[in-house]
Amino acid sequence: MKKWQEIYDALTVQPSRFAGRGLFAGTRIPARAKIGEYEGEVIGLAEARRRAKGRAVVAIVELERHAIDAKGMRRGFRYINHSCEPNTFFRCTPERAEVYALRNIRAGEELTCDYGESQHEGTLRCRCGAKGCRGYI
Ligand SMILES: [Zn+2]
Repeated sequence: MKKWQEIYDALTVQPSRFAGRGLFAGTRIPARAKIGEYEGEVIGLAEARRRAKGRAVVAIVELERHAIDAKGMRRGFRYINHSCEPNTFFRCTPERAEVYALRNIRAGEELTCDYGESQHEGTLRCRCGAKGCRGYI
């Protein structure tokens, strides 16, 4: 088993202090460590855009030639909430969306990432509470 899979398998989904449910570390995660990969249904880019239109919560990551739709997944990064000062980041290869720790993360800490240019196009009010919060996602 790869080391990151132990970190990934230990993640839990719990009520979030930001919005709905969130993704939480089950173990201590050192800075720069790989936490896991975005899992879901592999679909084409045109299909991804079509699906994203009708949804309040998008849960689709677009890669170079395909997209991953995590709707219906019971675990994983579809539960990660946005923060303007996140503790993780996505690194996308043509095939995969990998998630890494930006800094040391304590067991029990909620994982967050910066959604960046999301399909909400800056219309969703951000409630991350960070000092440098941009106000909208
Ligand atoms: Zn914010």
